[in-house]
Amino acid sequence: MARVKLEAINKFYGKSHIVKDFNLDIADGEFIVFLGPSGCGKSTTLRMIAGLEDITSGSVFIGDRLVNNVEAADRNLAMVFQSYALYPHMTVYENISFALRIAGLAKAEIDEKVRRVAAMLELSEFLNRKPSQLSGGQRQRVAMGRAMVRNPELFLFDEPLSNLDTKLRAQMREELKSIHQQLKTTTIYVTHDQIEAMTLADRIVIMRNGVIEQVGTPTDVFLHPVNTFVAGFIGSPAMNFFEATVGEQAGQYFVEKGPIRIPVPRKLWPKVSPGKVVTAGIRPSDIGVGAKGQDQRGFLPSKVLATEIHGAEVLVKAQAGESAFNFHVPLTQRPELGRTLDCSFELDALHLFDKQNGQSLANTL
Ligand code: ADP
Ligand code: MG
Repeated sequence: MARVKLEAINKFYGKSHIVKDFNLDIADGEFIVFLGPSGCGKSTTLRMIAGLEDITSGSVFIGDRLVNNVEAADRNLAMVFQSYALYPHMTVYENISFALRIAGLAKAEIDEKVRRVAAMLELSEFLNRKPSQLSGGQRQRVAMGRAMVRNPELFLFDEPLSNLDTKLRAQMREELKSIHQQLKTTTIYVTHDQIEAMTLADRIVIMRNGVIEQVGTPTDVFLHPVNTFVAGFIGSPAMNFFEATVGEQAGQYFVEKGPIRIPVPRKLWPKVSPGKVVTAGIRPSDIGVGAKGQDQRGFLPSKVLATEIHGAEVLVKAQAGESAFNFHVPLTQRPELGRTLDCSFELDALHLFDKQNGQSLANTL
C-alpha cells in the first residue's frame, strides 16, 4: 500500500495542453475515482502515474519515492484496462500466474496465490479454461486476478467495467468494493460514469479539459458542487438549472424568473444584490409535489409536458414559465399532461451560481 502524490503535473501532446497543473494527495489505502467526460485527460493522467506516458512537467510520488524516471515495471503497481488484454492462448490459471512465473516464484507459492485470488473472484472452477470460453464478466475478473495476485502497492483501473452490461457492472462494482475493503490497496479508478464514481469512491476527482474542477467525497460533491459543471455532471437525472434575477422587498432577497419567485437563503445574502443575474439549480430529487409555497420553501408552479415511467417512479418533465424542470412522482400519481402541479422544495436545496463564471455563491462564503 502506498500514498500517492501528484505535484503540478502537466502534459502536452505537441502544442495541445492536455493535463493542466494537476495536484492531488492520495492517502494510503484510499479509493480515488477520476471522473469526467470523455477526452478530459483521465486516462492520460493515469498512464503518467503508471509510467506508460511521459510527464511534461511535475512530479509523481508513489510512497516516498519520486517515480518520474522509474520504469513502469518497477513502480510496483498493477493496471487493469477496459480491454482485458488477456493472453488468448493461455488458460485462466496461466494468465493469472504469468507475472509470478516471470518473477521466478516457486511453483507451490504461485499455486497458493493463484488459488486464493481465484477463490476471491469466484474463478476457481474456470482455471483451466481459455479466455474465449469465458463471459465478459469472467474475463474482467481474470484481468483483475492477474493484477491482484502480484499484491501491488497501487491498483490503477481504466474504465474496467465499460464493456459489461448494466447488471454485471453493478455486480462487479460490489465485488470491487468488497475486494478493496479486504485488501485496502490504494486504488485510482477512471470512469466517465458518475454512478460508478459515487458507489466506489472514497473521494472523487472531477475533471474537465485537463483541469480538476472539484475533489471531494461522493456526499460532498453531490450536496456542495463548487460550480455548474460539477452540479450538472453529478446526479441523474441532472440538476435543473434556470437563470433568475435577484430582487429585494422589505429587506428580504429573492430570485425571480417569470412565475418563479424563491427566497434567497439567508446565508447567501452577502453574495447577492438586486439586479444580479444568477444561475439557480435544483435537483429533481429535491422537488416535491404539493405543500404550496410557504416562506421556507421554494415554489415552482409546473405545467406537465411529458412523463416517463422509470419503474416505481415517474419522471415528470414540466415547465414553470419559460424554465424546464424534471422531477419524480410515484407511479401511482402519474399526472395528466397539461396539468399544473404545485411543486416546491426546501430552500436549503437551492443552489445559486454566478452566471458569469459558474462558481457556486456558497463556495466563496
Ligand atoms: P479521457 O481518458 O478522459 O477520455 P484521454 O486522457 O484519453 O481522455 O485524452 C485526453 C486528450 O488527449 C484527448 O483530447 C485526446 O485526444 C488527447 N490524446 C490522448 N492521447 C494522445 C496522443 N497519444 N497524442 C495526441 N493526443 C492525445
Ligand atoms: Mg480514457
